[in-house]
Amino acid sequence: MNSVENGKECEAVLAATNPLLGRGVFVFLKLPESWKLLKTSMSPECNALGREIVGDGFRWITSGFIHAILVDEQKNQAYPLFLDVKEIFDNEKALEIIRRRFDKLASEGERIEMEKIHINGHEAHCVTWISQKKMFLKRKKVILANLEYATYCDATKRLILFRISSSHIENFMEDKEKMLSILSSLTCHF
Ligand SMILES: [Zn+2]
Repeated sequence: MNSVENGKECEAVLAATNPLLGRGVFVFLKLPESWKLLKTSMSPECNALGREIVGDGFRWITSGFIHAILVDEQKNQAYPLFLDVKEIFDNEKALEIIRRRFDKLASEGERIEMEKIHINGHEAHCVTWISQKKMFLKRKKVILANLEYATYCDATKRLILFRISSSHIENFMEDKEKMLSILSSLTCHF
């Protein structure tokens, strides 16, 4: 996860290397000042790459996922971020998957908010909600604030899904718009 400083904004890349297929990139994101994207100990999975070599010699990852940590340095708050990418050739089918997933979230979540945003030439669906989760070996339920962001990149034929969840509800709510703007800075094709 290299980052390139560019004034106060910095570009972060979510990438992975497949031993057989070579270097792949999930997406690029722009981070505002005092935000960082860090690696986790969980290794990313990169199962397939697009055919075309782009940029400075990489290919887009068409199947795989990655765990990372989005850090707000001002609040000293870390948010686990998960990104899942799937190759889907049919535009309608991809939108149907997104629609169904978000309908399901809408029926299960509390304090749900949905919005549609246009980003990088694609329509992105964004949902935030509060959920309760029973943690392993713990009696108490943990309350989580969640944000999911899904879009279909018809240029690379990829369904892209981000999820951020945090038990620090107050910080999450304050940072929600910032996190949404980071996800909206997405570059998923050239
Ligand atoms: Zn795209």
